[in-house]
Amino acid sequence: MLRAVCASANPHKVAEMFDLMGGVVDLQPRPAALADVVEDADTLVGNARLKAVAVCTATGLPALADDTGLEVDALNGAPGVRTARFAGGQATDADNRSKMLRELAGKTRSCRFRTVALLRFPDGREIIAEGVCEGSLAEIEMGERGFGYDPLFIPRDGDGRTFAQMSIEEKHVLSHRGKAFRALAKKLDELMRNESPTA
Ligand code: IMP
Repeated sequence: MLRAVCASANPHKVAEMFDLMGGVVDLQPRPAALADVVEDADTLVGNARLKAVAVCTATGLPALADDTGLEVDALNGAPGVRTARFAGGQATDADNRSKMLRELAGKTRSCRFRTVALLRFPDGREIIAEGVCEGSLAEIEMGERGFGYDPLFIPRDGDGRTFAQMSIEEKHVLSHRGKAFRALAKKLDELMRNESPTA
């Protein structure tokens, strides 16, 4: 099994990444001493790459990163790559959700989560995969689980509950991150098969 280091420092995302990729790669935690990466690229791929390169360079091992954006139709696709900073540089998840509820008052609520998953090797090769989850934003927060915008996000292919009302297994089946990492796992499997001697 390929040994790789998780490039995320967000404990919620780390838990989801271990869940989704733990059986595919031998995933190691991000070294605690490593400084936070400034995510200032203008694309999701760019930000995922910044995180992966930092960890890859520091450890000499392949690094697994993801970056996620919420695209809201009534906001012309915003906040997108700025989703974490929607309510400002120091915004908490609760600040971001409150601002979203204020901005969407009286507007269409359709949106999607988009995740880019990126595996970076020390020699510079990369595997990249994307996962999209269509949905809408609730008028009030519902549910206690998950993180970020989960109490507001109702996936289109679900049963009307928000991600925060679902078990983690239910979220993985539908979510942007679940789709992105399953696609990445498939690409990694193909790469490993092509690289292993056929004898
Ligand atoms: P990042 O990928 O860590 O930069 O996340 C961008 C923003 O999206 C942050 O505000 C996260 O809280 C939020 N976010 C990322 N993934 C999810 C998710 O699965 N559910 C809800 N919010 C998320």
